[in-house]
Amino acid sequence: MNLLYYRKEAEQFGDLTSNTLTDDEARYAFKRLKAHYKLQNHLELFGYRGGGNCGVFRIRLSHNPSLRVLCHELAHAIQWKKGWHTHGKKWHTKRHKSIMTRVWKYALPRLEGWKAQVKKNCDRHYQSAVNRQNKKAKTEELKRTPAYKLEHLRKLERKAESRVRRATTHLKKIQRRIRIWEKKTSPISFI
Ligand SMILES: [Zn+2]
Repeated sequence: MNLLYYRKEAEQFGDLTSNTLTDDEARYAFKRLKAHYKLQNHLELFGYRGGGNCGVFRIRLSHNPSLRVLCHELAHAIQWKKGWHTHGKKWHTKRHKSIMTRVWKYALPRLEGWKAQVKKNCDRHYQSAVNRQNKKAKTEELKRTPAYKLEHLRKLERKAESRVRRATTHLKKIQRRIRIWEKKTSPISFI
């Protein structure tokens, strides 16, 4: 009976409001556990009902899941992977409980470290966004200075000059060809 199973699970691992994770923390914890247990499943965060489920390829948890639900579904993923299940048979077996306990014992002592890592990553992203913004603002400021404007106009001037030089060369070539053809078509003069 599932209800009894869940109640016993809650006694052992706490209710669904303890050890909750933010979505980022859940994704990170999942990534670490997936690597550790060499699983193929991908994670989907869906809804807010506090539960989860596990198929062959996908683990679905509600947003802000508790570590307990994550471990519960991961234990199912391990059952799938090892082939320790039969279709239509019970999933919530003694074996599931022992796998889940193993996953839990692996995850719980690492949880604070994982959360700290997520925070660090988040801070780093935030800091680099701030840096990018500052750099952009500095460039914009620079662009407004007379020195920058002058330098920019000089660049345009150099470009325009080189275009003029190229056009002049082209014009001279055409004029030379005109002279050649004028000579060829002019009546021979006898002097
Ligand atoms: Zn289950």
